[in-house]
Amino acid sequence: MRIAFLGLGIMGGSMAANLVKAGHSVTTWNRTPGKTVPGAQSSATPAAAAKGAEVVWLCVSDTDAVEHVLFGQDGAAGSLAPGAIIADSSTISPSASRRFAQELQKKGIDFVDAPVTGSKIGAAEATLIFIVGGREEVVAKLQPLFMVMGKQAIHIGDIGMGEAAKLAMNLQIALIYQGFAEGLTLARKLGVKEEALFSLIQASMIRSGVVEYKMPFVRKRDYSPNFPVRLMRKDIQLMLEASNFRRLKP
Ligand code: NAP
Repeated sequence: MRIAFLGLGIMGGSMAANLVKAGHSVTTWNRTPGKTVPGAQSSATPAAAAKGAEVVWLCVSDTDAVEHVLFGQDGAAGSLAPGAIIADSSTISPSASRRFAQELQKKGIDFVDAPVTGSKIGAAEATLIFIVGGREEVVAKLQPLFMVMGKQAIHIGDIGMGEAAKLAMNLQIALIYQGFAEGLTLARKLGVKEEALFSLIQASMIRSGVVEYKMPFVRKRDYSPNFPVRLMRKDIQLMLEASNFRRLKP
């Protein structure tokens, strides 16, 4: 397939590389020049990358970034032909996703929200899970691509529902990580050995996949970002907005 991949951050860089490895013809674009993927062509604008593409895949930071990349100056939407599909793996607002889809539908372009779970390692090892919102027949066309970048795609419902379910997931992840960090701090201060605490967690019913993901990094004191806190803060803001709560203080 001819695929444009827009956004080569922690997640997008590996996802695009896996599409190349699977033999697809990939053209990339990244806001800050210099990020490239071996075996892929690189373009100067989203519009140039998207020209002639059957599928445009996005993985950028937030809602504004998606809007800019699709509809801004030199945005991808301007150069796509009817029948093209845009798949968005950024975690953004569910209602904005629906708005973007309606706008694209006027040009005959289909939109699928496909945020992911699995973090940096999942992207690198192609074990992501896609959390998908969109029309059944469009989602079906993307199935081979989901399986190149991940191990599963779960179709939650119509457009925006992938993002809604992703926010519900990240709410839980935020609480588990905060609990893990606070629990670990308390244990250390009380003199409990870290490995003893880890063994206890894994043997008990509070064990969790996200904590098991994090333990090896904590052991090595490797705090390089996998899922940067600024992105979780963005997601908590999205949860508050989606539930009509007040904004976080800046
Ligand atoms: P990242 O490493 O910070 O990369 C963000 C990407 O978005 C970069 O390519 C960045 O370009 C681009 N970008 C930011 N603002 C932009 C704008 N206004 N216009 C155009 N491009 C813009 O983030 P990531 O970890 O890959 O995450 C990407 C998305 O996946 C986020 O929505 C995140 O919440 C979600 N996600 C992340 C993880 C994870 O574990 N990391 C897991 C699941 C979902 P520059 O290079 O120019 O900055």
